[in-house]
Amino acid sequence: MCSVGDDLFDDNGLMSTIEVSRSKTCNKCKTAETHLVLRNKDAYCKSCFLENVTHKFKSTLGKSRLIRPGNRVLFLYEDNEASTALLHMVRDGLNLNTPKKLNFCPVIVFIEDLYHLTIEERHNVIEQANKVIGEFHFDLFLVSLAQYAGNTGSIDKLICQASEVLPISENDEHELFRNVQPNTSVTNKKELISILKRNLLIEVAKHLDCKFIFTNEISQDIAINLLTNVSLACGNRIPIEAGFCDDIDSQVKILRPLYLFDSKEIEFYTKYNNINYTHSRNEETNPYSSIQTLLEKFVVDLQANFPATINTILKIGDKLDIVKGDISCQLCKIPICEQSSQLTSEESTRFSSLVSTSKIDLADPDLSNKFAPINGKAYCFSCDELSKCLLKR
Ligand SMILES: [Zn+2]
Ligand SMILES: [Zn+2]
Repeated sequence: MCSVGDDLFDDNGLMSTIEVSRSKTCNKCKTAETHLVLRNKDAYCKSCFLENVTHKFKSTLGKSRLIRPGNRVLFLYEDNEASTALLHMVRDGLNLNTPKKLNFCPVIVFIEDLYHLTIEERHNVIEQANKVIGEFHFDLFLVSLAQYAGNTGSIDKLICQASEVLPISENDEHELFRNVQPNTSVTNKKELISILKRNLLIEVAKHLDCKFIFTNEISQDIAINLLTNVSLACGNRIPIEAGFCDDIDSQVKILRPLYLFDSKEIEFYTKYNNINYTHSRNEETNPYSSIQTLLEKFVVDLQANFPATINTILKIGDKLDIVKGDISCQLCKIPICEQSSQLTSEESTRFSSLVSTSKIDLADPDLSNKFAPINGKAYCFSCDELSKCLLKR
């Protein structure tokens, strides 16, 4: 796993309470009037704030030293503020006369999966994406997640250019879950979508000859994802998904250039740059309907009173390392934990399940084999559970 940007974390103590700054002048230039206060302590004027955002973005990319001049980078465009802000940062960095100019070649992809919207609204989102990307002078490719899930053909038949018509149907959500048990929980459906999208992105990147993918998760998304992975027993995914770089695939790396940004920074970056795009309505969900939405509520509520919450979670994620293995899970592609001399969390979970559901003989010489991981299995521990809701395994 690549690890960059440690020094960009602020030095908040663990779980500190709110401390509102009363500074009337910018903490950085010490002369201009304060326009906004970040993390309840850092007062910025408009100009210093924008300068700081640009520096943080470029330094996150620069420290990794991964992208070479001329490399093609696949950029996942989503219908949200962070995605548009990232597009703007990239465009700004590519423009001539900018110090430390970026010099890679962005290719944009939009994955259509907005099933909570009407057909007309879904077409409007694509039209809007086309308009936004056009204003930034980038090429846009479109792909339907439902078609990818149902199609066994090659990826080139699924990708279309913005000028072509992407097939959108009311049946798409049904098509997406065609091979999933009807009583599958919302948590498992969300997990399947997340894995499917990641695999699709990597396939699109390979097809479009891109060695890198930019996604637009901000710090809050990473923290929620980390706790979700803990809750869904996807421990081996945490080091890969909790930092800047996911380098599990040998040919394509997934990078998260906004992973140190918070929602307020994105909000004011778009405001101060006059980026006024109207995004589609969010899906109204009951926070208790899935583990993912529940953890989102938990992190957002805690962060409101304890501003160090998200950074604390991110710092924990940054300290974890992946357990190496030669075999990868067929579903999520993460290396599968192999048997080791030390007790793994998977074995502990199996042992706990064994002792709580059946009568065991502690003197049984074969006992350890009963909770040991199965050699040569196709799925990681989490996907093994998830695959039970698939009709075709
Ligand atoms: Zn200033
Ligand atoms: Zn897996």
